Amino acid sequence: MRHAEILHRCFRCGYCKLPGNYVDFNCPAYAAFRFETYSPGGRMWLLRAWLENRLEPSRRFQEILFACTACRNCVEQCALPKIKAELLAAFTAGKEKLVEEGKVPPAVRDCLTKLQLYGNPYGISRKKRTDWAADTDVDLFAGHDYLFFPGDVGAFDSRGQEMARSVATLLRHLGISFGILGEKEVSDGNEANAMGESALFQMLAEENGRHFQELNVKKIIALSPHGFNALKNDYPALGSDCQVFHYTQIVAAHVDRLSFPEVQPPMRVTYHDPCYLGRHNWEYGAARMVLAGLPGVELQEMDRSMGDALCCGGGGGNLFTDVIGNGPESPARIRAAEALDTGADTLAVSCPSCAVMLADAVKTNNMDDRIQVKDISEIVNARLNSTFPTGE
Ligand code: SF4
Ligand code: SF4
Repeated sequence: MRHAEILHRCFRCGYCKLPGNYVDFNCPAYAAFRFETYSPGGRMWLLRAWLENRLEPSRRFQEILFACTACRNCVEQCALPKIKAELLAAFTAGKEKLVEEGKVPPAVRDCLTKLQLYGNPYGISRKKRTDWAADTDVDLFAGHDYLFFPGDVGAFDSRGQEMARSVATLLRHLGISFGILGEKEVSDGNEANAMGESALFQMLAEENGRHFQELNVKKIIALSPHGFNALKNDYPALGSDCQVFHYTQIVAAHVDRLSFPEVQPPMRVTYHDPCYLGRHNWEYGAARMVLAGLPGVELQEMDRSMGDALCCGGGGGNLFTDVIGNGPESPARIRAAEALDTGADTLAVSCPSCAVMLADAVKTNNMDDRIQVKDISEIVNARLNSTFPTGE
């Protein structure tokens, strides 16, 4: 197993499961189950015992490994500089070894099979990949300045589709020239990678990369931070040389050009940093810059924000496999309660996976009459009072 040489160095101090300000447990898998084996340090020892043949990779063992959401809190917080950078890579290598041996939870197996057969984790025909853009004037990419990449959640999940339409509306309002790959798009592969299926990731990335090349795509706007991460950090090794942006970065660069109606209802917002924008890519400013540019919007930070944000639990394929589940201590439900505690009426997100996870959690927690989950672009559009252009 790759990175196996770091496993024996962990001395189980436990800092990796906390945020920088120690206010609560910040490893989402540990927060949900409260067994040491689910914590990063526990995983290190578990993996070591497995590699030394002192432990069978039981179903429970598999679930523990796949409950890691790849949130990267442990990488930020590990007390040992010599191993911290490799922690998440070691956990992913453990998943990779389980995938190679065919010993994965059924939900993980099903998700990977759908990605392989359909090019998305929903198992939906790729002909439906443009359904989110039906009745809009979004064009197929043909020499536009940017390719807009909605990704799997934006293309297939009903909440993700709303978000994709909202971002497209705002980009159009800003006068940004963009088109989409349409049915040619396949999964960005970020979740395949996080689930240890690097060969599948490569297959998906090469397919998208081929279309980027054929269409001469130079700049990409990703809806999802997960896609942003893969396209920006993992595709270049496979030959892609596109400049990649998250949509909040584009909106932040143009927010001062927007003009809003003078009278705006007050809105108290708290912002949830998605792991793949924040800890994976150190982008904490763009969404906050957009919110700061909106009249009537007051930002109230949660105790855990930016590098200390608690993951919503949807990463590492968990949005699709639900290995963590939605019990009272599930990270999404803890996070929704934390957002409500700020006194905010709106929980702002910038990731379609977070939007799905947190909206479900707000409902399950019976908080939907007190706080709403809104994407950054939805908040901007509501302030602008704009509607989706229909090609006039
Ligand atoms: S902080 Fe690092 S050394 Fe301490 S338990 Fe976690 S992984 Fe091990
Ligand atoms: S990446 Fe996140 S979920 Fe995985 S072990 Fe580290 S802190 Fe826990």
